[in-house]
Amino acid sequence: MSVVRVALLGVEGIHINSVSTSSAALILRVETGESRTGCPDCGDIAVGHGRRPVRLHDIPCFGRPVRLLWAKRVWRCADPDCPRATFTEDHEPAGPRAKLTARAVVLATDALARFDTSVSALAHQLGVSWHTVWDAVRAEATRRLGGAGRLQGVDALGVDIEGELAQLGPTGYRPLRVRDTLF
Ligand SMILES: [Zn+2]
Repeated sequence: MSVVRVALLGVEGIHINSVSTSSAALILRVETGESRTGCPDCGDIAVGHGRRPVRLHDIPCFGRPVRLLWAKRVWRCADPDCPRATFTEDHEPAGPRAKLTARAVVLATDALARFDTSVSALAHQLGVSWHTVWDAVRAEATRRLGGAGRLQGVDALGVDIEGELAQLGPTGYRPLRVRDTLF
């Protein structure tokens, strides 16, 4: 495996198969090098069952939005008595059904917490909709606060989050001021 194809992406266990461009973005086709895995239910060695394409929006590179086309591996449990028929690989780039990579969510959340930016500006940079950014940031902010134990006894936090949403107009172009309420 080319060191460059792994190092350029910067996600352990995933490599770039090809790079292309569109008028709007840099497109990286990526996949894991995983060749063996166990069934999460019974632990038997699973057999390959093809791949499923997953499209993710990553952090911008060279001034352009970046799309990852992840050929996500599908596995099938070899035990006919196991209730788990097939399952897909789970990896660091993004959680199930995510539209943004995990590091794009971290970037957007950190940017809103620390700098004068807006959800709409981040959405433009990442090449996604306002709601895609905000939904991911809200989940990440809630996770961070919960993990830090700061949600205990703070009933108003949810109100602050929903209050920010309620104040947004239909276009969402008002810069969010969430650092004082969420972080
Ligand atoms: Zn199984």
